[in-house]
Amino acid sequence: MVLKGWVLGELSTNCFLLADESSKEAALIDPAFFHEDIVRFIESNTLKVKYIIATHGHIDHIGGVDAFKDRFGAYVVAHEKEVEMFSSVTKNLSLWVGRAIKVQTPHILVKDGDILRVGNIELHVIHTPGHTPGSISIWIPSEKIVIVGDLLFFGSVGRTDLPGGNMAQLLRSIKRKIFKLPPETKVYPGHGLCTTIIDEMEKNLFLKKKDDGELITA
Ligand SMILES: [Zn+2]
Ligand SMILES: [Zn+2]
Repeated sequence: MVLKGWVLGELSTNCFLLADESSKEAALIDPAFFHEDIVRFIESNTLKVKYIIATHGHIDHIGGVDAFKDRFGAYVVAHEKEVEMFSSVTKNLSLWVGRAIKVQTPHILVKDGDILRVGNIELHVIHTPGHTPGSISIWIPSEKIVIVGDLLFFGSVGRTDLPGGNMAQLLRSIKRKIFKLPPETKVYPGHGLCTTIIDEMEKNLFLKKKDDGELITA
């Protein structure tokens, strides 16, 4: 598998492209903006973009979806609880950042446990609400990788003060779903540096809290 990342836009969103070398099928994840560097990479490697996947519906993760879909004809994938955000400039927060962007409705609505196939690669959908109600993570067991959007960051966790956010739910998603994956799994967040599950289990101070947000006192 090929995994390539670009940092896009004023919020420095990590946009990922993963591809299966034998079939040349690819999936683009969280395109904040349309960017010619990504187009060049796709075209120079003669990749076929099968899916454009949004980990959630905030504008810094979907701003480039329509432009890439028009260019490559891919299926757009999101959780059903994020659909409203695609078409609402207030819910997707684009009005706040002065871009006021509506994005077309996704073609494929996924739920927890669904599997998407990109050539020989299996992408397992894990519903990980908390940052938003329909946030998903994409787990690729064959590569020991999980792409988590704005759920979990290097040494931190996603915001829950935006509409639909819920800290207790976010902590449950991390502890009961992401932390159940093999500990050596690499974590690719929506912003900032990559990390691993074991490192976040051991060092992330936000996760030393109980599910209700209370700090555990030793
Ligand atoms: Zn977000
Ligand atoms: Zn984000």
